[in-house]
Amino acid sequence: MNNRKPEPLNASPVRRRCTICGNPSFSLSGVHPQCAAWKAGRLARDAQKAIAEAIPKPARPQWAQHKWAP
Ligand SMILES: [Zn+2]
Repeated sequence: MNNRKPEPLNASPVRRRCTICGNPSFSLSGVHPQCAAWKAGRLARDAQKAIAEAIPKPARPQWAQHKWAP
């Protein structure tokens, strides 16, 4: 019994690989939407962390910085 499948008429196009996860991607940009969202979220989180670290924290709590406080 012959179980061979026929050869495809059109060769499958070469799939671009996602630059983030490395798996083949079918999107036009070549990057999975979920990978792009993950990277954007990570960049935003890192930016927020950098901003939070750049802002100097007061030595005393804000409620204790009043001039009448001891
Ligand atoms: Zn991906």
